[in-house]
Amino acid sequence: MYMMSPRLEIDLLKITHNAIKLKSLYASKGVGIMGVTKVVCGDPKIAKALVKSGINTLADSRIENIRKMSSAKIKASFVLLRTPLLSQVESVVKFADISFNSELSVINELSKAALKQNIVHKIILMIELGDLREGLLPSDLDSTVIEILQLPGIELIGIGTNLACLFGIKPDQNKMKYLSALAIELEKKFSISLSIISGGNSANYTWFKETCDAGKINNLRLGESIFLGCETLYRKPIPGLFTDAFTLYAEVIESKIKASVPNGEICQDAFGNLPKIKDSGQMRRTILGLGLQDVLVSGLCPKLEVDIIGMTSDHIILNAKQTNLKVGNEVAFDLNYGALLSAMTSPYITKTYK
Ligand SMILES: *Cc1c(COP(=O)(O)O)cnc(C)c1O
Repeated sequence: MYMMSPRLEIDLLKITHNAIKLKSLYASKGVGIMGVTKVVCGDPKIAKALVKSGINTLADSRIENIRKMSSAKIKASFVLLRTPLLSQVESVVKFADISFNSELSVINELSKAALKQNIVHKIILMIELGDLREGLLPSDLDSTVIEILQLPGIELIGIGTNLACLFGIKPDQNKMKYLSALAIELEKKFSISLSIISGGNSANYTWFKETCDAGKINNLRLGESIFLGCETLYRKPIPGLFTDAFTLYAEVIESKIKASVPNGEICQDAFGNLPKIKDSGQMRRTILGLGLQDVLVSGLCPKLEVDIIGMTSDHIILNAKQTNLKVGNEVAFDLNYGALLSAMTSPYITKTYK
């Protein structure tokens, strides 16, 4: 009997363990967490595990994932992380309790959609603090808030920032202090109270450990550190967490002793690259039934003593070294964030849970 392959094995107990640990770590300095489900495509079983760990707010960048969790009757509040698409405002106010925003024109449309549906939609304003992805410039904050406060159907409940994504900019003490100061200023200036000051993501771990006072920062949005057990500035494991909640299995479809150097004139490969090959004599070349159409192969790390020497759409070629892999055997891999994202998204990879 062979098991389904390729297959992503998901250990829900390890995810639950990580979530509980992180929740209590961050709570020790008054920081609540949202569980970010986008890397797992809003998988309802995983979402359930997060809720069971005491995380009652789930955040995702895609409204489709939020709809999926909502239809699966996951008992949580739902937050849309990516600023809404104008073409989706109706479903955003319908399915998300809160959305992160950085464009007034979008907030205007959210207001209209909320009025139509007779609800109040909560928003958090994203502020650009250096990573140059989404966010209002701090200098535009006041004028934007003035407009928002006049909009019916919209409640401004907080501000936030996102760093360490596009350019890996570190969320340091200065940036967190600045965000705190902006929150205090807004509350004073407009006589409002902001209940969520969201300082960032899994990259905020180092700042959090070093700071003795989180200031006004009372929220982080965590994906990778829950699922892969690491911080994301240096990709160091977080003590006490599992880093192997996900394991990808692929099946050997060919295994033969062949040359390490191809025979003939070398031109472009399947992806337009000109291969460079070093002669290391004869080797056991083992082929797996898994390739670039399934997963970001560069983000895989084999758990056996083998080397990945090449990949095409549907194959990974290994130097099997001393492992003696045979047709039908399986090779297990650890995954980085990019590999996990692609594996969860891939319709070709079966997901199993334990
Ligand atoms: C993806 C995302 C997160 C979660 O990031 P991790 O590094 O997985 O913790 C948080 N906030 C925003 C806005 C995101 O897009």
